Amino acid sequence: MEEVVRYNYRLRPGATAVAALMAEWGRCRWLWNEAVHQQRSGGKPTFAKLCRLLTEARARNAWLRDGSQVVQQQVLRTYGLALMHSFTIKGRGRPRLKKRSRTLPTLDYTVRGFTLHGGRLRLAGGIIIPVVWSRDLPSKPSSVRVYQDCLGHWYASFVVRRERADAPEVTGSIGIDWGVATTAATTDPAYDLPYHGFRKRCAAELAKAQRKMARRRPPNGHAGSKGYLRAKRQAAKLHKRAARQNRHTTRIWAKSVVDNHQIIAVEDFKPAFLAKSTMARKAADAAIGAAKRELIERGTRAGRKVVLVPPAYTTMTCSGCFARATQRLGLGARTFVCTTCGHTAGRDENAARVILATVERDRAGVDGVRHAITSSGSGLHAA
Ligand SMILES: [Zn+2]
Repeated sequence: MEEVVRYNYRLRPGATAVAALMAEWGRCRWLWNEAVHQQRSGGKPTFAKLCRLLTEARARNAWLRDGSQVVQQQVLRTYGLALMHSFTIKGRGRPRLKKRSRTLPTLDYTVRGFTLHGGRLRLAGGIIIPVVWSRDLPSKPSSVRVYQDCLGHWYASFVVRRERADAPEVTGSIGIDWGVATTAATTDPAYDLPYHGFRKRCAAELAKAQRKMARRRPPNGHAGSKGYLRAKRQAAKLHKRAARQNRHTTRIWAKSVVDNHQIIAVEDFKPAFLAKSTMARKAADAAIGAAKRELIERGTRAGRKVVLVPPAYTTMTCSGCFARATQRLGLGARTFVCTTCGHTAGRDENAARVILATVERDRAGVDGVRHAITSSGSGLHAA
């Protein structure tokens, strides 16, 4: 079977190419902001309407015509999608203005807007950029996103098709409970994913950079000094390094879980209610989000049975007798003690077992099963 994936590569654009990319981004930002203004003044900017607008604007303005039409159309398409999602997806806000100081360049090219020639990426408008080919493309790409990160590095993300290798059948099953101290606590401690966050050395360096930033922070409305920008860049660099390390560990973990288990029961963790918490907590939540995404993606791709279990009651239910405690276990309590059967287990391990049991019982809906566990209070083999 074939699958559609992204392959990312580092770009090494010269000064001319960077200037051209930034000019292209400036035009795209202008178009996006125009669309936002339209929407705010009640213009109901559909994609078709925006395309007409683009044609008119290009006819009027030579500076807009200087840019690639492919990229400009793509920006409006992305805007149209973002607007639609703001109505259909809960919690998604209306598209907002892209401020120059707040957003990083992102340019989308469809197949008409780019070619690969002699190992270099050639974009519409004659922008030529050398690519660092860290691995081969599995097929001819159907589109490319060219973007810059917070360190000023440029990347190309190609959309390609590749042959999907079917994962060998396995029989194991595993339950996963997300947490702060341990990102993923599982029914088999060998598969636990500890939370590393900023590893010690990294954390110390980051604190130093952040102190420096704080000392040099410019007053509101003033541009930052050279020293401030240097400290800011240093902090961004450390953030990125930590993120890269965490991503690496997460991938290896998700792969080993998926390679060895047919049934993967995952707590359906939703971090939204923690939005007002500390930075450290937010970083831990982000680690959970990334691990969950990676696991679900890998699991479904390998044809595993991945089931999301609503988190209600998982920490209150005994994994030994499935009686539900009348009181919620305090956040500080690390051990679960069942008042009905006396079963004791680590708080997270108990939750992971309950999550897995919820799925392993071959009853129809997960919700129904959970209900059965929590209300009947009888055993795993009752029904
Ligand atoms: Zn019990």
